Amino acid sequence: MSEEKSLNFIEEIVEADLAAGKYPSITTRFPPEPNGYLHIGHAKSICLNFGLAKKYGGKTNLRFDDTNPVTEDTEYVESIKNDVKWLGFEWAAELYASDYFEQLYAFAMQLVEKGLAYVDDSTSEEIAAQKGTPTQSGTRNKYADRTVAENVQLFADMKSGKYADGEKVLRVKIDMASPNMLLRDPIIYRIKHAHHHRTGDKWCVYPMYDFAHGQSDSIEKITHSICTLEFVPHRPLYDWCIDQLGTFPSKQYEFARLNMTYTVMSKRKLLQLVNENMVNGWDDPRMSTISGMRRRGYPAASIREFCDRIGIAKRDNLIDVGLLEFCVREELNKIALRRMVVFDPLKVVITNYDKVEEILTSENNPEDEHGGVREIPFSKELYIERDDFMEVPAKKYFRLAPGQMVRLKSAYIIKCDDVVKDADGNITEVHCSYIPESRSGADTSGINVKGTLHWVSAQHAINAEIRLYDRLFNVEDVANAEGDFKSYINPNSLQIVHNAFAEPQLAKDEHQQPFQFLRKGYFVLDRDTNTNQLVFNRTVTLKDAWAKEVKKS
Ligand code: ATP
Ligand code: MG
Repeated sequence: MSEEKSLNFIEEIVEADLAAGKYPSITTRFPPEPNGYLHIGHAKSICLNFGLAKKYGGKTNLRFDDTNPVTEDTEYVESIKNDVKWLGFEWAAELYASDYFEQLYAFAMQLVEKGLAYVDDSTSEEIAAQKGTPTQSGTRNKYADRTVAENVQLFADMKSGKYADGEKVLRVKIDMASPNMLLRDPIIYRIKHAHHHRTGDKWCVYPMYDFAHGQSDSIEKITHSICTLEFVPHRPLYDWCIDQLGTFPSKQYEFARLNMTYTVMSKRKLLQLVNENMVNGWDDPRMSTISGMRRRGYPAASIREFCDRIGIAKRDNLIDVGLLEFCVREELNKIALRRMVVFDPLKVVITNYDKVEEILTSENNPEDEHGGVREIPFSKELYIERDDFMEVPAKKYFRLAPGQMVRLKSAYIIKCDDVVKDADGNITEVHCSYIPESRSGADTSGINVKGTLHWVSAQHAINAEIRLYDRLFNVEDVANAEGDFKSYINPNSLQIVHNAFAEPQLAKDEHQQPFQFLRKGYFVLDRDTNTNQLVFNRTVTLKDAWAKEVKKS
């Protein structure tokens, strides 16, 4: 598919750079801050960075952008590695910005020595006030006039722990009148007496993002440093630092971040959902996290396909979650094993069935010619879905009703003869007769029926809990909805079917194996399954309500 597709704008840049001999090969990086679990937006960035290197024979580093000690944690580092691997990518090197702290400090000191950086004692409020506004120049304070020798000493003292948090910062001297506010003597180092998940208590000064990120790129000789659009105004600072230090000329390129309907994608918000117990952890199957999607049963291939289809845009947009679900269905249809599970059982007694049981077979996957078959037991008492029976059938109701015939999938045609009710008038079971000559695969009955139902044999059925997920939010554009995003949580995003009846094969099937429960959707076994109870997550419903919008163009 990618052969026929035209190049995206980043591929065009890469091809031009390679053709001009600018670099012998390309190096990209994926630079997560380990302050949360990765989400589908990160998957977009992963597919882009690793995909480019793969396509052009380059390499991609996994770099943890761990320059903020307060919010970062090794739990996140592990989850991120896990998710990138699961998505199907291999990094050339696992690197940490914190490993460059010594080098980054030395770079900053070089700027001080060149008279390009100064220590400022102002409070953050004072600094903000002196910055000016987009239409009004800022003003430099007296600290900007400190001598190089003074600044060298003060910066060294900042590092050695002489000052408290916030007492001093290091700023680079660029242009207080620049229309780009980020160039008005930005801060590149601040004091933070905090424990870092890797460097412990060794450091009490930490570099700011703009300085650390560009210089880390340079250290790793990243050729194409790809980030999202909000970093466009940061690019001049990125270039300025590289120019002044004469380090490897990494270049920054920006693309539109992925936004998706009915969900949130900022780690800060996802963390709130976790901390306030609005979901069951980072890998709750309703979350936009990669771990949540994995647990829900989304195949990695479908996430890659989704990222490929949405392409690389230069303008922000909102992608329909229906497109992701479409990709999930397409993939699952190819690989899911077909099974039968009855969610809301109604007992059917086959009055003329006089065998104890028989073992029938049914295809595992009609989409896969090597899929094979499984055995399904048939017996006198079965369960069908309660809503597959109507005592007084509506027009064009082709399922079971008094006097009406249906086929039981991979089994026989049955006809409803009688309805049994309790004292309150509730239907407790239906009595049917079966047509012995109508067995699937050997049907000589000559009878044609319109409805085919899924079913399970009552005595062989195993109990299962089924978790049905829906969208976590009930507005399309959650990030831009007015007020607190949590007020838009869909109260029905999780529904649990406690006593479903599953065909016995499901007790032998493997974890991680995707299933299609006939007429019900796609499902996967959840890790909450134990020896007493099978638990399934609904990955996605069968019906593609979005088919029209997302048809392959
Ligand atoms: P968040 O705002 O969700 O916390 P972030 O940008 O702070 O995300 P990082 O860990 O800094 O998260 O991001 C790592 C990489 O993933 C960055 O290059 C970032 O641009 C990219 N990225 C993050 N969110 C998205 C998104 N929604 N779409 C595309 N790329 C993204
Ligand atoms: Mg970030």
